[in-house]
Amino acid sequence: MTTFRPESERVLHTDYQKSVAAYWNNNPNDDRVNTVLGEVDGLYHHHYGIGEPDLSVLEGAEDTRQERLVRELHRLETAQADVLLGQLGDVRPGDRLMDGGSGRGGTSFMANQRFGCRMDGVTISEYQAGFANDQAAERGVTDRVQFHFKNMLDTGFEAGSMRGIWTNETTMYVDLFELFAEFSRLLEPGGRYVCITGCSNDVFGARSASVSWIDAHYGCNIHPRSEYFKALAANNLVPVAVTDLTPATIPYWELRTHSELATGVEKPFLTSYREGSFQYLMITADKVGR
Ligand code: SAH
Repeated sequence: MTTFRPESERVLHTDYQKSVAAYWNNNPNDDRVNTVLGEVDGLYHHHYGIGEPDLSVLEGAEDTRQERLVRELHRLETAQADVLLGQLGDVRPGDRLMDGGSGRGGTSFMANQRFGCRMDGVTISEYQAGFANDQAAERGVTDRVQFHFKNMLDTGFEAGSMRGIWTNETTMYVDLFELFAEFSRLLEPGGRYVCITGCSNDVFGARSASVSWIDAHYGCNIHPRSEYFKALAANNLVPVAVTDLTPATIPYWELRTHSELATGVEKPFLTSYREGSFQYLMITADKVGR
């Protein structure tokens, strides 16, 4: 006799994963900044921004200042996703890509628009998967862009089915060796993986108080930089480019301190980036072998 197991038990393997899912299903405080920025143009991001901000938004008419600030923060977050997608190389409409930890789907929709490819986003937040699928329906792309309530450590997708995979600020929730084993399984030979993440800097000597503060704020577990390269190498994923985005993200955080949507986490981000204990890294790697 087979016993019925609810979907959530199949997807969420540990109590920790249940707590992460609960956070993303219901995080009103941090969520406000993400939903208000998403409302600017319907692309909802749960990641940070890069690039040179237009500081004129801090000046001029006071009654429109916060709104102009929101637009500028959102522009920098979209620019971040553009840079990530630019690393994926030659993606064709016939290719399939996976977004590991897809949030409300912003980067996935951008990828579909850019490459015309098939997109699968996976998230352990059932709420987020539903939200993003509603967005896909509104955009009329449900045949090409789908979001799944799935665990990226164990997606159930077919081996070798993905031309490319990315993670945009999600790897701090999982064990990297388990994650890259699954990604290596999913990628076709020569397929590409792109990761944007915050990581602690081994050169600093130890985990700083500010990095621990960020972990506590999000309930995540920031990995050291070295861990990424060990886990990639162990899983036939060979880095082709590594970019330190730290200098490009600091101005975004400085700008965010002026927003009424600031959550308080701006302080440990700025402190840790400036003192060198934390880095904003983009890693691009190719799958070798079968
Ligand atoms: N990449 C998105 C969202 C980043 S927020 C963006 O750039 O907007 C972190 C995301 O990781 C959330 O959607 C959360 O549900 C997801 N996540 C965390 N652990 C996960 C896991 N084990 N499997 C799938 N998604 C996971």
